[in-house]
Amino acid sequence: MVNIKDLTLKEIENRLLEAGEKPFHARQVFAWIYNKGAASFDEFTDLSKRLREYLKKEFFISVPQIISQETSTDGTRKILLKLDDSNCIECVLISEENRLTLCISTQVGCALGCVFCMTGKEGFVRNLKFREMAEQVFAAKSILKNNQNITNIVLMGMGEPLLNYDEVIKFLKIATDPKGFAFAAKRITVSTAGMIPMMEKLGRETNVNIAISLNAATDEVRNKLMPVNKKYPLKELLEACRRCPMKRSRRVTFEYILIKGINDLTDDAKRLLKLLKGIPCKINLIPFNPFPDTNFERPSDEAALKFQKILLDAGYTVFVRQSKGRDISAACGQLRGRIYKKV
Ligand code: SF4
Repeated sequence: MVNIKDLTLKEIENRLLEAGEKPFHARQVFAWIYNKGAASFDEFTDLSKRLREYLKKEFFISVPQIISQETSTDGTRKILLKLDDSNCIECVLISEENRLTLCISTQVGCALGCVFCMTGKEGFVRNLKFREMAEQVFAAKSILKNNQNITNIVLMGMGEPLLNYDEVIKFLKIATDPKGFAFAAKRITVSTAGMIPMMEKLGRETNVNIAISLNAATDEVRNKLMPVNKKYPLKELLEACRRCPMKRSRRVTFEYILIKGINDLTDDAKRLLKLLKGIPCKINLIPFNPFPDTNFERPSDEAALKFQKILLDAGYTVFVRQSKGRDISAACGQLRGRIYKKV
């Protein structure tokens, strides 16, 4: 039997056609699964009994396998999900004043090896399928209280989304389809360490927001923090941001993890100003979240505020983000999942 969530809308249409059914029923099936969250074909009440019987014979609807969930003192919730091959991934629900953001993973592990990131230390195992990204949305929805709704989605969990481009695009189609999860594109952000060709493609093919994990103002420092910088150095990355086809109302977000004594000095802030010149952007400064076996340290609050002030004084929109969920290892760069086997 086939898991119907493994099929795209187009593939469901094709299957119905092959079975002699009208392909437009695929949209109803799609809506029942993603929009209404139906768990059984019996719930598809606007379809004929015959069609429901066909679906039951050929397909099943998977449910996410939640292994555990933890809640931080600040309300952040981390969910550990088991995949069919027994690997585990994590997603995080972050509540802020008027938003509830779901941070989802796109790969098991990550190949990019950023030295400030726990996921990177585990190495790469495999890409997630679009269905496994969607299951994170279902899992998060299943633990929400009645009056809660996910307002935003960020692809910032385990993995580099743009190294799993095709599956990410399939997931984004489901996430933004009015009959799917029905999120406005402006409520979705894809984060990247700076995979230039795919960034430009994403800008052309979707209307979602892009966040760049920048973290340094010189190639020397960025090479050490993020090995990917040797392939896509700062100058090329920022030129790509300048020409990135974004809707006029949108701005690139730069994420900058502040690490004590490494990239948090006044000179770094001044260099950053020069680098970002001419790019409509927003900057998130994230004081580093230490994890076991790291030599890096979190900067003082004063150092973070001083860094922020230099950027604010130059007219940039800059936030110091206190990473949520630090006590349950759900903060930025702390997700590690559980690796069962490499394929
Ligand atoms: S920060 Fe992102 S890109 Fe870098 S190793 Fe971690 S998950 Fe991968």
